Amino acid sequence: MTKSVERIALPAPSPSTARSLTVFRYGQAGARPKAYLHASLHADETPPMLVAHHLAALLDEAAKDGRIAGEIVLVPVANPIGLDQNVAGTHAGRYELAGGGNFNRGFPDLTDAVAARIAGELGRDEAANARAVREALAATIASVEPRGPLAHMRHALMRLAVDADIVLDLHCDAESLPHLHIATVNWPAGADLAAELGSRAQLVSIDPGGSAFEDTMSGHWRKLRERLGAAHPIPQGCFASTVELRGRADVDDGLARADAEALLRFLIRRGVVRGEPGPLPRSVGDGVPFEAVDMLRAPVAGIVAYRHVLGDQVKKGQVIADIVDPTAEDARGARTPVATRTDGFILTRRDDKLVRPGQVIAKVVGREVLPGRTGLLLED
Ligand SMILES: [Zn+2]
Repeated sequence: MTKSVERIALPAPSPSTARSLTVFRYGQAGARPKAYLHASLHADETPPMLVAHHLAALLDEAAKDGRIAGEIVLVPVANPIGLDQNVAGTHAGRYELAGGGNFNRGFPDLTDAVAARIAGELGRDEAANARAVREALAATIASVEPRGPLAHMRHALMRLAVDADIVLDLHCDAESLPHLHIATVNWPAGADLAAELGSRAQLVSIDPGGSAFEDTMSGHWRKLRERLGAAHPIPQGCFASTVELRGRADVDDGLARADAEALLRFLIRRGVVRGEPGPLPRSVGDGVPFEAVDMLRAPVAGIVAYRHVLGDQVKKGQVIADIVDPTAEDARGARTPVATRTDGFILTRRDDKLVRPGQVIAKVVGREVLPGRTGLLLED
């Protein structure tokens, strides 16, 4: 089988409308390793969808040549709900306007149900235990009854991904250098992915909180191992990463094609696609604790004027940006400087320069864990 295309219908939000998820499948169902990739779960992040388009073209060729060794599931548009959201002419992604919150939060944790399902089934054979976990994950998610369009969409994405060996959640940031979010259990195992994509930093944490897609998929294995692993060996059966493909404005066929080629080489290295990946590029970024990333927030409302560009090295205490209030009576008092708390480099900036208090205006990648970086480590 070369490629099949499936359209999974999602519940219509209103009469006379329809939405669906488009799924490209390559390889034999059930073949291993299984890789799952989807694009633009936040909907207002365009680069991943163009990368998915280029990746599909590369996979079409690989399939035609009989080079798909495992199974690949590619969802080129992960969020048709968010794609459809438009407020007064402006696309509004990231949060569901109907009140469902951040699209990449709140994926249901199946650990309890899976642990109950496999109790008594596990033995001393790690590979057999992994198969039992995968079957239980698939059976558990299949037994969940989602309520409402957003829950249906999250459920459909999880059903496609939950038993995969590799899960890549393709996003982008506002203005950004390429980087990865990755769980401690998957680092430094993901050094090949980071090197292929030219990732400038890997933000590593046990669990950043919020039940994001990636953390839910890889977290099942870590949590099951914590619970049951003392008596029964359970591998880290899911390698997952949230891939941040630069910034929102970085939409370009050349960049997207190169990213897709990097993802294909990664899939070749992992044995999902047959071929010769060539030498691994030299890595250009390190893995750092996510707690060492300074999230600079606007203390007041205004216009953010940056003193630095992406990639600039900065020192602890250095002012990164000013928040300007153009209505200040004395122009000398119009600026509120915002300094970083760490030595490091600037990874991201905001694209919309009109800011509200509390909004993140930059991420600075340091090396030392920062005080107060606890709880939800993600932006919001
Ligand atoms: Zn995102």
